[in-house]
Amino acid sequence: MSSTVPIVLGVDLDGVCADYEGAFRSSVARQLDRAPETMPPQTIMDAYSQWGLTLAEFEEAHRRAVLEDRIFRHMSPLPGVSDALWELSDLGVWIRIITHRLIFNWAHETSAADTAAWLDAHQIPYRDLCFIGDKPNVGADLYVDDSPTNIVSLREAGRTAIVFDQPYNRDLPGPRATTWDEVVRLVSEEIDARQRQLPLPLSGLITAERAPGDAAADDDGHLAVGG
Ligand SMILES: [Mg+2]
Repeated sequence: MSSTVPIVLGVDLDGVCADYEGAFRSSVARQLDRAPETMPPQTIMDAYSQWGLTLAEFEEAHRRAVLEDRIFRHMSPLPGVSDALWELSDLGVWIRIITHRLIFNWAHETSAADTAAWLDAHQIPYRDLCFIGDKPNVGADLYVDDSPTNIVSLREAGRTAIVFDQPYNRDLPGPRATTWDEVVRLVSEEIDARQRQLPLPLSGLITAERAPGDAAADDDGHLAVGG
């Protein structure tokens, strides 16, 4: 059954839908001839200082990972992401992919094309694809993101943001999802909460099924539809 409340879910890609760190680790291992086990999971989100990279080294390694290893096309999806987003889409959720992948201005064609190819290859349903750094301005109702910086700025802007659990975001307060099943549960709860807040669901106005003699409801409905 479709939701009667349209809700726009802003979905981040790297670290939420896709295993950026795993793909980047493999690429850095190739580029620098390093053993992957010398590059543990990040517990702080920065330019991979825990792998011994400077900011300049990270930027160069990222550029090569995108352009040479085509990580945006080949990285693994995180478990359950496609099924979960289809489930939410079937509930009427408007899925807006929001990513900050166009970091370097000489890799836009590859980044955008590989991202779109990856979304199709892994059967991710979405209605919008936004390449933007300033996420609060995208105007989704609800967000799921892994970046501490993004979560904090979204919440400071008054947005509801679900933390997608990663080792580098554990100190952030919830809501938090450790799996995509939990994202579905949290978004479903948000839909239910919003429906309870609405005195007259929009679908009720459109179908106009009123009890006989309920003149007030009819009047309200006609006014709202006409406006
Ligand atoms: Mg991310």
